[in-house]
Amino acid sequence: MKILKNLSLLPYNTFKINALANEMVVIENDNELENLHLNQKPFLVLGGGSNILFTKNFDGIILKNEIKGKAIIDETEEEIALNIKSGENWHEIVMWSVENNWNGIENLALIPGTVGAAPVQNIGAYGVEIKDVLQYVRFYNFETRKFEQLNNSECQFGYRDSIFKRSLKNKIFITDIGIKLKKKNHHYKTDYGNIKDELKKQNISELSPRMIANIVIQIRKSKLPDPAEIGNAGSFFKNPEVSEEVLSKIKNQFPNVIYFPTNENRFKLAAGWMIEQCGLRGFEHKGAAVHTRQALVIINKQNATGESILELAQIIIEKVYQTFGVKLEPEVNIL
Ligand SMILES: Cc1cc2nc3c(=O)[nH]c(=O)nc-3n(C[C@H](O)[C@H](O)[C@H](O)COP(=O)(O)OP(=O)(O)OC[C@H]3O[C@@H](n4cnc5c(N)ncnc54)[C@H](O)[C@@H]3O)c2cc1C
Repeated sequence: MKILKNLSLLPYNTFKINALANEMVVIENDNELENLHLNQKPFLVLGGGSNILFTKNFDGIILKNEIKGKAIIDETEEEIALNIKSGENWHEIVMWSVENNWNGIENLALIPGTVGAAPVQNIGAYGVEIKDVLQYVRFYNFETRKFEQLNNSECQFGYRDSIFKRSLKNKIFITDIGIKLKKKNHHYKTDYGNIKDELKKQNISELSPRMIANIVIQIRKSKLPDPAEIGNAGSFFKNPEVSEEVLSKIKNQFPNVIYFPTNENRFKLAAGWMIEQCGLRGFEHKGAAVHTRQALVIINKQNATGESILELAQIIIEKVYQTFGVKLEPEVNIL
């Protein structure tokens, strides 16, 4: 267990915010969690810092996740079950799966961050969410001081949501996830984003997980800013869900509104499109800006502070509310 004192969090968050922390404990294996005494201090489990906005210094202990390891735990002709330690890099696990021709997570290529954070907000992209392949999540519970495990349905997954953002928030450290992938008879999801168009353009008819992952990577690179170059945390807001009544009011004013039906007569609106309609594409505020290629992304254009990024987010929420009567909710964890 490595302990660092009085450090800048700038290298540890993709928004590149220079917040300070008094203490960081680097966790490299499960046993270290049992021996860790937090003495009632607030703590934050930190993976890649790609879904966090620090608006102030962190007054507590940062638990930096470096627990590595991956293993095949079961295999049949049809399927393969994997146990992955939470400090592994998510994209590298996707690449490992596509190299082995295992299907199921190829649409989730190039999502930054760690494996342990993936179930927290039930990461999703191009019609796939981690809940579609997830078998269990194992974690250390600092309240019970025990290792515990939840199966898929117990994780209460929703759109960018899970039990880990609700009743288990600030209580646990996820150490492992179990996923099951297909070795054959896989149904590829190509209906979302531009996947189908790209397949056509590139004349690809025989699908493989590698093909899909490559296309997803190309599309993402063309749309999203690379956090290594420009500070950002991906989509800042969730796509809001509205009733049929609210949708039809919006349709009257904006006949070309972008929406997708979800369950129970609810409709998901494209938050990026709504922000664009408010004329906010490229809008700047104290070094923070709305990304020009994807309005759902806020970037740290020039030495923005966490506070100014939050102010920009509030301006966006306000404008979208005035225009559409719909309140956007942040997807990013604001601290
Ligand atoms: C360019 C870009 C594109 C993105 N695209 C997508 C996308 O397509 N889909 C999507 O869903 N997300 C996307 N994201 C968001 C982000 O990549 C994911 O949310 C990712 O899972 C965060 O991983 P992380 O390790 O960086 O988590 P962190 O930012 O370090 O943590 C996020 C939250 O999870 C908690 N947490 C992290 N690890 C653990 C653990 N082991 N145990 C308990 N709690 C933990 C943290 O305390 C925090 O509350 C994108 C981000 C960027 C920068």
